[in-house]
Amino acid sequence: MFEGIQRGLTDAFKKLRGRGKLTADNVREGLGEVRRALLEADVNFNVVNEFIEKVEARSVGQEVLSRVDPSEQIIKIVFDELVALMGPVDHRIPFAKDRPTVIMMCGLQGAGKTTTCGKLALKLKAQNRKVLLVAADLQRPAAVEQLKVIGGQTETPVYTEATNPVDVCRNAVNYAKMQNLDTVILDTAGRLHIDEELIEELKQIDKYVKPDSVFLVCDAMTGQDAVNSSKAFHDALELNGVILTKLDGDARGGAALSIRQVAGVPIKFIGMGEKLQALEDFHPERMASRLMG
Ligand code: GDP
Repeated sequence: MFEGIQRGLTDAFKKLRGRGKLTADNVREGLGEVRRALLEADVNFNVVNEFIEKVEARSVGQEVLSRVDPSEQIIKIVFDELVALMGPVDHRIPFAKDRPTVIMMCGLQGAGKTTTCGKLALKLKAQNRKVLLVAADLQRPAAVEQLKVIGGQTETPVYTEATNPVDVCRNAVNYAKMQNLDTVILDTAGRLHIDEELIEELKQIDKYVKPDSVFLVCDAMTGQDAVNSSKAFHDALELNGVILTKLDGDARGGAALSIRQVAGVPIKFIGMGEKLQALEDFHPERMASRLMG
């Protein structure tokens, strides 16, 4: 995971460290390598440029260069700015007091949305929430079946109904009230690409069901596509957070580093495997440490 960026950053830092005393030119040269490593990891171009500008502005001052260990200072600045790029993150999910809390999950097909609904159900059940999963993707019968399987694996009831997405979600919330279930997770429709019809369907659910949280499930392996779709979904739906999946694979890190800056929405949780237990809180500090090798 993140081998390319780790190698790039480690090489850049090695050169800075090897020099002892540093001039402003040495710093710029070192940061040029950091820049290359970030671009190779598929971080958004504008995000990289702004990042390097900030790090450079903080690094070339006399205060840093006159220190005995300027390279360590600069590495610390890179770390701090990487953390700032991805954070801060509030992992809490707000819960309603006297009615079921509704969590709407969106995402493109294959991103891991249905799996992540199951992962979130498990996580919330561990916090003593009584969860209902809702199959609101009526376009693909396989999606309903997949959610039922996940419901079985996580011992969570699954609500299905062959009507339309808004009615399914509304009726599911009423069903939850009747059954004393306090948390409703909506597995909405996916598509291969974002289109008007999908966004309209999600907006309708958002309008009539008024979810307490809207999360976008995004595949880290798709790099800048994940970033661009986060922006499009956030513009349409005001997301409360992104759940970035498949970070256990060989994603290059670009999506994790760019989403917050480009789309304006934080990554809250990360998918670290196919297993239903593999959902973790996203910690920018841990991610920055991992990226820096
Ligand atoms: P959906 O179309 O968005 O509902 O996607 P699915 O939930 O069906 O997931 C698509 C594929 O991605 C499945 O094979 C999942 O097992 C896999 N998947 C989901 N999340 C993760 C993850 O965090 N890591 C890995 N390695 N695979 C994942």
